[in-house]
Amino acid sequence: MKLHRTLYPKLLLAYLLFFLLSFILISSFNSRMILNDLTRTRAESLYRESRLVATTYGKEIYNGGAVREDALLQLAAIDTFISAEIRVIDTGGRQILDSRSSVETVFSDFDPAAIGSYYMVGDFYGTYRDDYLSVFYPITAGYRVRGYVVIQMPMSDIYASRDRLLNISYLTMLFMYLLSLLVLVVFTFVVYIPIRRITTAAEEYARGHYEYDPSVRGRDEIGYLAETLYYMASEIGRSEDNQKKFIANVSHDFRSPLTSIRGYLTAMLDGTIPPELHEKYLKVVLNETDRLTKLTNGLLELNSLNTRGIVLTISDFDINQVIRQICETFDVLCREKKISIELILTGESLFVSGDMGKIQQVVANLVDNAIKFSHSNSIIRIETTEKSDKVFVSVKDSGIGIPDDAQKLVFDRFYKTDLSRGKDKKGTGLGLAITKEIIQAHNQNINVISTEGVGSEFIFTLAKAKEQEEE
Ligand code: ATP
Ligand code: MG
Repeated sequence: MKLHRTLYPKLLLAYLLFFLLSFILISSFNSRMILNDLTRTRAESLYRESRLVATTYGKEIYNGGAVREDALLQLAAIDTFISAEIRVIDTGGRQILDSRSSVETVFSDFDPAAIGSYYMVGDFYGTYRDDYLSVFYPITAGYRVRGYVVIQMPMSDIYASRDRLLNISYLTMLFMYLLSLLVLVVFTFVVYIPIRRITTAAEEYARGHYEYDPSVRGRDEIGYLAETLYYMASEIGRSEDNQKKFIANVSHDFRSPLTSIRGYLTAMLDGTIPPELHEKYLKVVLNETDRLTKLTNGLLELNSLNTRGIVLTISDFDINQVIRQICETFDVLCREKKISIELILTGESLFVSGDMGKIQQVVANLVDNAIKFSHSNSIIRIETTEKSDKVFVSVKDSGIGIPDDAQKLVFDRFYKTDLSRGKDKKGTGLGLAITKEIIQAHNQNINVISTEGVGSEFIFTLAKAKEQEEE
């Protein structure tokens, strides 16, 4: 799968969209709200003024004459004080007073009752070129509305206030935008680039380049992810290497006996080996097939031990007894090589808990090795000892020994030391690998102590049987 759509452009797009939307929101919704609010507040304060005018001068104004002149002066004073034009208009639309002009005017459509509010915004019946805010207050006399006090001021003031407030909003928004841009930059370096690197690394791993280092450092989740991935890849790479080595070993170990079998058989068929010698060479061929069988069985066994959850049939059994039995089976071999086995066993019987069949196999493998790699006329010592809840079993020979650097390798599949190759042509190198798997399945340990040319000692542990512990 290839990465076609990356996250980044989407993020940028979302970011731009966010910016655009917030701009639209401020310029339309915010602007209207601010304007409405400012207008209403101003209208309210003008309304109070107009009520004052209406209640103070209302009656006198309709009386005419000198009183009206007096009121006009007062209105002019108020006008300069609050800087708003003040008119008095009667219900018919005829203007009675105007703080700023003495021209007789009639507003033919004048009908504040029809507006449905105490103020309006507009050109006031074509009087002004710009928008004005006009606030009305009725003058009543004799329980009848006679006219209205109208106070007016230009909206430009309010518009200016609104623009000031809007500018503050825009500035705040811009600031937030820059701040989030900073977040985006940080995100880019902290999240986006590392994730890109990890993706590239994963692609490399998919191609089989397990040594590729994503080079993402850091102790956060992403750094940890990269590290884990890198570790996983190197492990896969290693196990793949092991797999290759394993296959190479298997093929090699199968090929050499097959080649020799084929060689002998061809030689017999074409008469290179005369018929009277056939028996001798058929025995060799039989030996080789034995080795192949052993190899196949060993591999099958290792495989079954390797598959997770190997089933151990745990029971309590006498390890001393097992050792004695195994030694008996090697009797003939020992006699041939003039090797004697010395048993130093703790107690008459020593009960341990484990899979008896598998432990028998372990002991047999170790004794087999000890005999194979011992010189004739030597002694093999098998010892059992107790230590707290464990039983130690040691198989010690004074044979060819194992070189230091080979000691940790003898438990590997197919491993055979150079020393042993000449001595034992039949060995598969699987015996100790199987032994170790069995011991590990028991959650126990096996170790080797050896000196080249002096001898080797293999020691493994077993769990003591429960009843015996309590005794
Ligand atoms: P197989 O057990 O299948 O017959 P093997 O004995 O060669 O083959 P392992 O039992 O796994 O294989 O042993 C691996 C190698 O470790 C041997 O080939 C030998 O080189 C070395 N080794 C094991 N036991 C001893 C020992 N007691 N003394 C010296 N070398 C040993
Ligand atoms: Mg062996």
